[in-house]
Amino acid sequence: MGSRVIGRRQLLGGILGAGAGYVFLGGVRKAVAAAKSGAKTRLVVLDPGHGGIDPGAIGFSGIYEKDIALATARELARLLETSKRYRVQLTRDNDEFVALQDRVAHAHAAGAELFLSIHADALPNAGTRGASVFTLSERASDREAAELAARENKADLIAGIDLSRHEPVVSEILLDLARRQTNNLSIRLARDMVLELGREVKLLNNTHRSAGFAVLKAPDVPSALVELGCLSNKEEDRLLQQPSYQRRLAAGLARSISDYFDFIGRA
Ligand SMILES: [Zn+2]
Repeated sequence: MGSRVIGRRQLLGGILGAGAGYVFLGGVRKAVAAAKSGAKTRLVVLDPGHGGIDPGAIGFSGIYEKDIALATARELARLLETSKRYRVQLTRDNDEFVALQDRVAHAHAAGAELFLSIHADALPNAGTRGASVFTLSERASDREAAELAARENKADLIAGIDLSRHEPVVSEILLDLARRQTNNLSIRLARDMVLELGREVKLLNNTHRSAGFAVLKAPDVPSALVELGCLSNKEEDRLLQQPSYQRRLAAGLARSISDYFDFIGRA
């Protein structure tokens, strides 16, 4: 059974990592070396949204989503590494554009056990505020979620990159094989995140939703996307820029990641 699993992983890697695989060869070697040495630390890949030519949402005060996402991701990386339970990689650690499928390929090729994409939203209603967590759905759970997914995925269309460059039939069969199991784990992770973020900050009423985000499509890496808050809300725009608020968000997320891996360890 083990070799069949490895075979499938290699096949998936060949498909998902095509074109970008050589970039992440170092990551694959490291993951293999860690497995051979029996290293117990888990690899978590954090994905600060947007970057470079893509600012993401623009806040009430003019702040860019890409900057809030990176600052909070760095704080979360610091907390996770301090615990010594995790190794952390960021899909970007400066203000650069990274294609969506390269973010997913990075997590997959590096052997990530968890992928968290970090964003902050802007909504039409300036009165709406609160954090929320998304997991993958082929059909978005509501119209607002579908519109958000469309906004987040647009970056690649702007950069002229074709997201559907793989043979659709092959991709779909392989995705279905791994998706069920990964999806259950992703939902567990998202629930932990909602619980722990709720201890720190205000949440949206409809806190856990699903949407067709491109960055959540690694079929064998449990993944979630967090919207840290609403930059379109004056108060939350102000809070999200504060390092102390970013620390609270990061602390909640770090606890949820620990809760999630405690659960996996017992399962
Ligand atoms: Zn975003």
